[in-house]
Amino acid sequence: MIQDCKAKPENQHLTGFRKSLLNPDEFTVTFELVPSRGGRNRQHDRTLALACDLARDGRISAVSITDNAGGHPALSPEILGMEILETGMDVISHFSCKDKNRNEMEGQLFGWDRQGLSNLLVISGDYPQRGYSGHPKPVFDLDSVHVVDMLTLMNKGHYINQSTHPTSFFKGVAVSPFKLHEAEQLMQYYKLHRKIEAGADYVITQLGFDARKYHEVLLYMKQNKLQVPILGSVFIPTLPLVEIMHQGKVPGCIIPDALYRKMKEEVSPSDNGKQDRLRRAAKLLAVLKGMGYNGAHIGGPGLSMADFDFMLRAAGRYESRWPELVAQLNFWPKKGFYLYRKDRQTGLNRPEAPPRAHFKSLQPLYTLAKFTHDIAFEPRGPLYKTAKKGCLALHASPLKRPFAAFEHISKFLLFGCQNCGDCTLATHAYLCPQSGCAKYMLNGPCGGSRDGWCEVYPGKKRCLFVTSYERTSTTNSQAQFSKGFEPPRNWELNNSSSWFNFYQGLDNRK
Ligand code: SF4
Repeated sequence: MIQDCKAKPENQHLTGFRKSLLNPDEFTVTFELVPSRGGRNRQHDRTLALACDLARDGRISAVSITDNAGGHPALSPEILGMEILETGMDVISHFSCKDKNRNEMEGQLFGWDRQGLSNLLVISGDYPQRGYSGHPKPVFDLDSVHVVDMLTLMNKGHYINQSTHPTSFFKGVAVSPFKLHEAEQLMQYYKLHRKIEAGADYVITQLGFDARKYHEVLLYMKQNKLQVPILGSVFIPTLPLVEIMHQGKVPGCIIPDALYRKMKEEVSPSDNGKQDRLRRAAKLLAVLKGMGYNGAHIGGPGLSMADFDFMLRAAGRYESRWPELVAQLNFWPKKGFYLYRKDRQTGLNRPEAPPRAHFKSLQPLYTLAKFTHDIAFEPRGPLYKTAKKGCLALHASPLKRPFAAFEHISKFLLFGCQNCGDCTLATHAYLCPQSGCAKYMLNGPCGGSRDGWCEVYPGKKRCLFVTSYERTSTTNSQAQFSKGFEPPRNWELNNSSSWFNFYQGLDNRK
């Protein structure tokens, strides 16, 4: 099955993805592979053959392998990853949070470390889709910030108070600059702070088509001293995928109307527009390199070695005139959000942000909940000591259970409380992530929101983090969303009183 492809690469002058990405003089190119369902598909053989060709060619530093992309079960990334490593091509394994709890993750990661699969792309993951006999349980025990933190500890070899042999994971994370509204865009950037603070080594953007938005995230990282390498995604969709993406059916991916119309016009009787899509991708590659990206992450179904060669050669020719290509990569909805003012000369961004929007000023529930929290749950609050004393006395009395029931019922009615016992209401603008976020995210949104709506309930439920941002817009306290991070839920406290737990110092707020 695996071709003999260990011949000396023709263009290879680097060994491995990590080395390439950490070399500031290199522009690292990677490619995304999407395994399909089934263990013995012909498709896997074709994928391996392509990996062999790419390894021989040497211009691609690594292939990444998705982890149940789109939420659909598929061949797991480590199986294909191990076979591809044998071809001499380096591998980035996607590691998503959706299907496994923290213990399963740990076991899997130790296995990957043993197998030499050390380059990871840690993502929340798409919401799981229908599987055997129905819909699976969406696990999301940890979010991507937690996983990066766990990997950082594993790399140090000191993990949950035990010493283990240090792992050597190279931890990538994702960010989307392609959000249409201020709240969802800023929350993406705030979460990036947390990912990098937790130990992320590099960043890959969500796929997009607008040069100024690619420039925005680069400028944001520079301004905020988020100093890790970044790769821009360059995606070449097939025509059927263009339709699906334009309809908003691929979470987090946007094909704006203008680009959609252009792609349709490019279809001719002799060509389905693929050459134009490859040429556009080549221009984006040249622009990303020109504006200062450390590399590009290419993706797209059905690409052949000939397509790569065409695209990479074209990108080489475009390189010297990248500034004039920016105007040709101007695909963002007119009302879509940009963080910075436009630089009329370059078509990119000036390092100045216009004033932020102020959302609804009257937030009765938020105001009341915050007031109660500040006086009774903040150690400096005037009622803190009294509330603590009262709660501890109740905990030691026969009223313990009725009081816990009172807490749960009142918080259920007000916030949809699920009685997790480890309450994070105060850090989420008094919205409960256990009932309000389909993926139970604690440190910021996943990449799947669109127009401010949750990926799982489009048009029905606003993303919890969008509402959190909007609720706090009047107090200008959104910066809290980028600082530190919210630890994972402690399941030992499930179905217990968060108030008792808090005053006893048992929860994560201690
Ligand atoms: S205790 Fe847990 S489930 Fe209840 S409101 Fe707080 S965060 Fe939500």
